Amino acid sequence: MGALDRTIANAVPLMPRALVRRVASRYIAGERLEDALAVIRNLNRKGCTATVDVLGESTRDKAQAAEILGEYKRVVDALEGEGLAAGLSVKLTALGLDLDEELCRANLEEIVEYAAERGRFVRVDMESSAHTEATIGIVLDAHARHPNVGAVIQAYLRRSIEDVRRLCAAGVSVRLCKGIYDEPRAIAYKDYDTVRQNYVFLLEELMRAGVYVGVATHDEYLVWHALRLVYRLGVPKDRYEFQMLLGVDEELRDILVRAGHRMRVYVPYGRQWYEYSTRRLKENPKVAGYVARDFLER
Ligand code: FAD
Repeated sequence: MGALDRTIANAVPLMPRALVRRVASRYIAGERLEDALAVIRNLNRKGCTATVDVLGESTRDKAQAAEILGEYKRVVDALEGEGLAAGLSVKLTALGLDLDEELCRANLEEIVEYAAERGRFVRVDMESSAHTEATIGIVLDAHARHPNVGAVIQAYLRRSIEDVRRLCAAGVSVRLCKGIYDEPRAIAYKDYDTVRQNYVFLLEELMRAGVYVGVATHDEYLVWHALRLVYRLGVPKDRYEFQMLLGVDEELRDILVRAGHRMRVYVPYGRQWYEYSTRRLKENPKVAGYVARDFLER
């Protein structure tokens, strides 16, 4: 990221909420479940599956965690009702991890069980490094009872090779991403190319271990490496999938779908859109800067 981009990224939290909402609308299906279902129907028609994220994180009270839990059940019912091809993505802090770890475990258990009975997969998103150890532990524990739960690994974390080995040993499916939180150099690679190289290293480890892999990236260099590994290692088409965020590089998405690769799109919806939106805008200061200028010039 260049100096100008960094300045714009730092300014994102200062942007008025209405502006954030307008710019970020491309990354979010809408506020209601019906909005998410409409997006998923469309994605399914285009040959993509989806994973649904009910927006919300850092829940500080039990009632809010219960609300999110109930909403995820509504999602599963709706997906089942319409026969849509989609699973769930959940954040443990939305289920109460910062509040009470036992409550969070119980909430996850309930969602995973509910999803299992209806043939749905639950991916546990990875949040900041303060939650990495707890998240891996909770996923490993849940997976011992329910194979329909999977983890996420962030290539920027120095510890990730150890976590990948733990998850592979237990046969847990992994979504591999670069990582979105701002972590200190002591625990995270800060150099763009080093993160890329670590991504390739971890991806090879996952593919060799034979666990189901979600290759979550829009970085064509990493997509190329993933394809190289698929061909080199002879990974069957049903042992991996590409994953992309809603609203990002639909062209690359279509290219991969047309080439016959599985593609899953991350579909967030809900009223708590602010945190997710600012993270997406910091990631893409060009869009944020362009719209901010456009807004200020009016
Ligand atoms: P980048 O180098 O950031 O992007 C490559 C190219 O993609 C850019 O040049 C640009 O053209 C395009 N691009 C990337 N982001 C945007 C954007 N916001 N708007 C417009 N264009 C963009 N991170 C976590 O920490 N935990 C998670 O659980 C997690 N889950 C994820 C799930 C999915 C399906 C995906 C795709 C990402 C997830 N991430 C998660 C985010 C991830 O860690 C990265 O921050 C994000 O994917 C950007 O990295 P990249 O590999 O696409 O490479």
